[in-house]
Amino acid sequence: MSDRDTRHKQSMQKLKSHVDKKVAAATEQRGLLLVFTGNGKGKTTAAWGTVTRALGYGYRVGVVQFIKGMWECGERERLAEDPNLEVAIMATGFTWETQNREADTRACQAVWAEAERMLADPEVYLVVLDEITYMLKFGYLDIATVKRAIEQRPREQTVIVTGRNAHRELTAMADTVTEMQEVRHAFNEGVQARRGIDY
Ligand code: ATP
Ligand code: MG
Repeated sequence: MSDRDTRHKQSMQKLKSHVDKKVAAATEQRGLLLVFTGNGKGKTTAAWGTVTRALGYGYRVGVVQFIKGMWECGERERLAEDPNLEVAIMATGFTWETQNREADTRACQAVWAEAERMLADPEVYLVVLDEITYMLKFGYLDIATVKRAIEQRPREQTVIVTGRNAHRELTAMADTVTEMQEVRHAFNEGVQARRGIDY
């Protein structure tokens, strides 16, 4: 064996023992709370990717979209055919378009009721609360209510929260927190959001 091969073998052995130790240490089995936050692109995309993953195993999934935003959503179009997926959408436009606090609060509370039902259902394996961080920021929902529902969910259920500026109490209780960091975004260079890519 050449020197290079020997060094490679040694470093792989080291890596294997490191990975094996970590795998052996992870013994707990339960649902998780994941937070995808930060200013970079990819939060909602990652959530839908995980939805697809769960549906792939035949699990039931609930997605709650707190900002209707761009009405179209390619993943929703594609996955809607799956009887294991339930999607609840807040019945209002962009909050900066409606500019009506009372109407937005009502719309938010109505869709939150759907979220609460999903969060209480042990048959639902994964619940996505897409863009819920803004509801907390605008005061349409209070953090204590959201925390309680997440804390009291069935043990096997996983929850994904997406949106910028996640409430610190949410990130504090999360098992996994990923902050998407914006390095550059085409939109800021004047390129339009692209169908099938951005939504
Ligand atoms: P995506 O839905 O693409 O995963 P996201 O959920 O991380 O993005 P949001 O803040 O929810 O980001 O933005 C929703 C829309 O704005 C999407 O069309 C997305 O491509 C676009 N977007 C995301 N990040 C940025 C950014 N930093 N600047 C401008 N537009 C962005
Ligand atoms: Mg998003």
